[in-house]
Amino acid sequence: MTDTMHQIRLADRVSALKPSVTVAVTNRAKELRRQGADVLGFAAGEPDFDTPDRIKQTAIRALEAGQTKYMPTLGDPETRGVIAQKLASENGIDGLTPEHIAIGAGGKHVLFTVCHCLFDKPAPDGAAAEAVLPVPAWVSYDPIIRLAGGTVVPVETTADSDFLMTPEQLASAITPKTRAVFLNSPSNPCGTMYSPEQIRALAAVIAEKASIAPDVVVVSDEIYEKIVYGGIDHLSIGAVPEIADRVVTLNGLSKAFAMTGWRVGYAACPGDFGKRIIKAMGTLQGQMTTNITSFVYPAIRTALTECADDVDRMRRTFGERAEMITKLLAGMEGLSCPKPTGAFYAFPDVSAHFAKTTPGGRRLDDALSFCEALLDEAEVALVPGDDFGGCGKRHVRISFACSEEQIEAGMGRLGNWLASLR
Ligand code: PMP
Ligand code: GLU
Repeated sequence: MTDTMHQIRLADRVSALKPSVTVAVTNRAKELRRQGADVLGFAAGEPDFDTPDRIKQTAIRALEAGQTKYMPTLGDPETRGVIAQKLASENGIDGLTPEHIAIGAGGKHVLFTVCHCLFDKPAPDGAAAEAVLPVPAWVSYDPIIRLAGGTVVPVETTADSDFLMTPEQLASAITPKTRAVFLNSPSNPCGTMYSPEQIRALAAVIAEKASIAPDVVVVSDEIYEKIVYGGIDHLSIGAVPEIADRVVTLNGLSKAFAMTGWRVGYAACPGDFGKRIIKAMGTLQGQMTTNITSFVYPAIRTALTECADDVDRMRRTFGERAEMITKLLAGMEGLSCPKPTGAFYAFPDVSAHFAKTTPGGRRLDDALSFCEALLDEAEVALVPGDDFGGCGKRHVRISFACSEEQIEAGMGRLGNWLASLR
């Protein structure tokens, strides 16, 4: 080190990047627990179940058999073929071959790659490709779209309409500059989902607006498709024939198969555009990460073809927990929230408590100060809704991917703490 040493600069791209609040709160809760605090965490968007054993055994066998070398960048044709078959038989998405499928290191990585294949840097006149994003939305969409050069056009939804974007809202958000419309049903953080009729109505708008926005693509994040328990069927927008060739369906194994740490995500898009975008993703991924861990591919096939009973067991448990948390929240003063029908999140409005003072003497100004005070004073970790966008600043996210005992205890603490606010 010399006296002339100054702070060496980092790229603006990362200096300006917001850390993921879901990851940050989860890590903070874990750290407090490690230090001995009795924190009850409701922040992690990750199933508390272990990965089903037959998936693990397949990976162990592949490892023992020496499947430890580089593989084709986007995955071996056999595994890509199994994903294509799954999307045809379960989701009604036709015309997919292995060339229409990309496998990457988790849904987040695949989303990142898709966005880099859709958006360019703004043109010299400042005009940027637009991404229509219904908000509140998962915290990573906005930064990933921006990093890729896109401009986010938020469409504000509210709890009164189950946080769903209407066809009219979508129609007025699409312009000649629109490159992509993002959908996430069932939704993180809202816990609500579109009915098949609502999906068809949105698809009809896209089909009509393609005349003014010829390059528009739908990115449909269906990572929670199997965690549905509210009586609404999941429909993949990629199964609607009029727009199927402009839909990139995004999914992954993290949530349905309790495989968050394995890092498996995939994208699919049929037709000629599908082949071109998947090839582009392969080129990009080939300069980034190459293939995912080799001995995981057989485990993907096991998960997608042999584990329906495990998935259903977890789905039913999430449904029971959704019932439980809905009842517990309904008994608390000043909280309101649509009943979750999919994923494992409740997203109550807590703004009735803003401007109150906590037992520890803190003033609650927003969702962030609400969550900070709750963690410090009642040792309950929730995610503040601010970074999900739109009305999220009045909401907090409660992940119920944890035991019934923890839900009972944590909601008890939350209720008592709310009752003590003045
Ligand atoms: N999409 C949504 C809506 C999510 O909540 C998550 C959770 N991390 C992901 C994508 C990505 O998950 P993963 O990278 O673990 O596949
Ligand atoms: N998607 C999960 C969540 O929202 C995991 C963390 C993350 O990647 O954001 O909590």
